[in-house]
Amino acid sequence: MENSLSSRLQMAMRRITGRGKLNESDIDEMMREVRLSLLEADVNFKVVKQFTANVKEKAIGEKILKGLNPGQQVVKVVHDELKSIMGEEAVPLMFENTGITTFMTIGLQGSGKTTSIGKLGVYLRKNYKKKVMFIAADVYRPAAIEQLITIGKQIGIEVYDEGIKDARKIVKNGLEYAKKNGYEVVIIDTAGRLHIDEEMMQELVDVKKLANPTEILLTVDAMTGQDAAQIAKSFHDQLNATGAILTKLDGDTRGGAALSIREVSGIPIKFMSSGEKMDTFEPFHPERMASRILGMGDVLTLIEKATEAIDEDEAKNMMERMMSDKFNYYDLLKQFKMIKRMGSISKILGFIPGMGNIKKAASQIDDKQFDKMAIIISSMTEAEKKNPELIDKASSRRQRIAKGAGVSVSDVNNLRQALEAQKKMVKTMSNMSEDDLKRLEKD
Ligand code: GDP
Repeated sequence: MENSLSSRLQMAMRRITGRGKLNESDIDEMMREVRLSLLEADVNFKVVKQFTANVKEKAIGEKILKGLNPGQQVVKVVHDELKSIMGEEAVPLMFENTGITTFMTIGLQGSGKTTSIGKLGVYLRKNYKKKVMFIAADVYRPAAIEQLITIGKQIGIEVYDEGIKDARKIVKNGLEYAKKNGYEVVIIDTAGRLHIDEEMMQELVDVKKLANPTEILLTVDAMTGQDAAQIAKSFHDQLNATGAILTKLDGDTRGGAALSIREVSGIPIKFMSSGEKMDTFEPFHPERMASRILGMGDVLTLIEKATEAIDEDEAKNMMERMMSDKFNYYDLLKQFKMIKRMGSISKILGFIPGMGNIKKAASQIDDKQFDKMAIIISSMTEAEKKNPELIDKASSRRQRIAKGAGVSVSDVNNLRQALEAQKKMVKTMSNMSEDDLKRLEKD
């Protein structure tokens, strides 16, 4: 989903991520692209306006985080703002402490209400081990009751149905039946129409009064873009829905619904449904959705790591040491520690464009090997740590170190090679011309 939104946003972002310096007109140009991509994805224009204003203000005002260049910093701002308009945090489902928990579902016909009831039932049984029952109270569309019964049979969940036209009566009797039979969660299906009308609203208001539901969950079809947000608002104004279930996210949706609902209607999206099968249903996480919309997993992971782990000064010192040709085992150890803090080396190198070969070599080093190398270094004398050539010259030293670390001599030799490889890599990089480096960035 959101393919074109993702790729357009990514294009706008890519243009700036490698940049060491950004001025206001760079940001304006990027924001123009971002604004267009959002409008084209059918995001509500007020949301777009607010979004771009917030991003611009933050992008210009924000202190540059250590470890990120200005371009990456802006990606972070855009990502955080996407997350923020979808509600920051996932909003969990509420349950009653005592007695039956009731979820009343509402939504227009065709929005995926019946299907979502089935999915929610399966989800509650699987993840919360709840005994679930459905009440079929969509009395206007005969096929709706049949459909719920069919789904109930398919997933082994009982459906309460009376074959009468009075929704209030069905709900009242259904809840009593559930109580008598030890059900813990009851999901009520209600009247859906093609359009919102007074009569339907009134019936929903009545059912709400009667059932006093723990949550009112509104299903909205993501394919309807920002209309979904307006529909949500109309329902919300009269019924105070507690959560939305965003359906059909597997379809060719452009992102407008996901990005508009919360801001326009105030209803938090609690679940997303993305398929016709019963297990395509999961809690909605604004953070994950923002990452998904923005794509750019690489840059986003780097940003996440940078915010928590990298100290730019430390990295700079390390780089200087490496360039100085005095790079020794102390430095190597420090470097291991830095890299370890950031995660696996192959992942880190994956962020650096044009580092394919090194990435491949590095992917063979795992955390355990790092630990082993650290132990070997700790069995060296101070002089050996500072002067790697001492070890190169004397096999007796290599044997002593191996014994002290409880490893083989070939392990010690591997470490020597790692140090050499580092020095070589730095030399190659420092001999590159500006053009070479630019080409690498572009790759
Ligand atoms: P209701 O009228 O609101 O009860 O909607 P239904 O549950 O009957 O769903 C309407 C149509 O959308 C059906 O054909 C469902 O199979 C389909 N549908 C529901 N949810 C999803 C979804 O998440 N993805 C896709 N692709 N189809 C869905």
